[in-house]
Amino acid sequence: MINSTVAEISAALQAGDISSVEITQAYLNRIAKLNGELNAFITVCEESALEQAAAADAARSAGNTSPLLGIPIAHKDIFCTKDILTTCGSRMLHNFISPYNATVVERFNEAGTVLLGKTNMDEFAMGSSNETSFFGDVKNPWNTECVPGGSSGGSAAAVAADLCAMATGTDTGGSIRQPAAFCGITGFKPSYGRVSRWGMIAFASSLDQAGPITKSAEDAAIILNAMAGLDEKDSTSIDRPAEEFTASLNQPLKGLRIGVPKQHFAQGLSTEIEKAVRDALAEYKKLGATIKEVDLTNSHLSVSAYYVVAPAEASANLSRFDGVRYGYRCEDPVDLEDMYKRTRSEGFGEEVKRRIMIGTYALSAGYYDAYYRKAQKIRRLIKDDFDRAFAEVDVIIGPTSPHTAFKLGSKSDPVSMYLEDIYTIAVNLAGLPAASIPVGMANGMPMGMQIIGAYFDEAKILNVAHQFQQHTDWHKQKPGPIASSDEEA
Ligand code: GLN
Repeated sequence: MINSTVAEISAALQAGDISSVEITQAYLNRIAKLNGELNAFITVCEESALEQAAAADAARSAGNTSPLLGIPIAHKDIFCTKDILTTCGSRMLHNFISPYNATVVERFNEAGTVLLGKTNMDEFAMGSSNETSFFGDVKNPWNTECVPGGSSGGSAAAVAADLCAMATGTDTGGSIRQPAAFCGITGFKPSYGRVSRWGMIAFASSLDQAGPITKSAEDAAIILNAMAGLDEKDSTSIDRPAEEFTASLNQPLKGLRIGVPKQHFAQGLSTEIEKAVRDALAEYKKLGATIKEVDLTNSHLSVSAYYVVAPAEASANLSRFDGVRYGYRCEDPVDLEDMYKRTRSEGFGEEVKRRIMIGTYALSAGYYDAYYRKAQKIRRLIKDDFDRAFAEVDVIIGPTSPHTAFKLGSKSDPVSMYLEDIYTIAVNLAGLPAASIPVGMANGMPMGMQIIGAYFDEAKILNVAHQFQQHTDWHKQKPGPIASSDEEA
């Protein structure tokens, strides 16, 4: 059962074929067996998971039929979890026990999920390979010499390796979609404002958004039902009527208008990925869709604009880590300034410090207009490109990443790492929803396809993704080297 989807586990629990304690124990055994190698979890909550599972079984006996009741989940270690270590992948928070739950965590608790543990991630969600974590690299389950992608690499590796049925991630520039593509699973970034960010440690507040990492689009819809919705504690969360994201999964695609951005099929894209996405487009045509080229004229500016806006916001958000209130504090400071300086120099890693420096510079009085204001103007142009495209098409489809997962340690200069998100970043700058789903295999590694929607058109993306998964098997592929055995399953 551990290799099943959330929908299947939910049905088995409801039918009484399995108990939450049994499935929870099976995942804990699998984590014990593989986490040493994959390093997907920073914290495993063995005892409390079994307690929550027993409580879920009791609730079910008492008549509770919530679809997520008793299903094990893993949260990215960026979400505050009450009385549980919450590190954000950083030495700065290596000892931080949160006194409260993030709203997302609270919503899953209300839905009755079982928390298996907290997943590894790039430090403060800055990275595309999970190599910036203070807790060490995460390994890709398909090939442990390769990165799982980042920053939600722990969540993606955990779902791909059947260490959990579902996980949460966050996406500021691609951190749900790119690791989902590298690990051969489904990742979904909702529209900005759809899911509460309260209690989710802030990186770049105008871009950050939480979403599900799952084994299918159907599961992503089920999970989004639990995650989404207005939260009065988050002023950026949107007040919209509740939606059932599962309701339109089975809608036929006849008449669907797909836009294909020519900029996403330009130089730099691997030929295998291009072919896989074009094959998928042919599949959509068979299902009744029409395909049209769209022009995202300013997309080549997205990475540059992002690397002004995101570091600027990060430099402000991370100023709270000063050694005074929580987290790391340097040894024996001689005075306040010494404490600030050494705490921050020792507590943050290289990439985080690089971003704080860039961001502080971009926001400084003399350079604000030249960098930050200009980046915001580019952001508007990028949003306008999408608005124009969505006047003509229902979804935009292209590759998630230009290539499959690369080798650990192979990208040493920051700019080549920043270019990893070339197809995903514009979506965050515009605040749009987008999914990545498996679309094929190249040299034993999975490839991902991105489906972008208009604002609050999550249900449409999930419908388009689910229909593809009804007609193809790419999302059912499992990493051969560590595939779960029959007795584990
Ligand atoms: N790779 C991008 C960065 O390092 C995006 C990260 C993210 O989405 N959290 O900023």
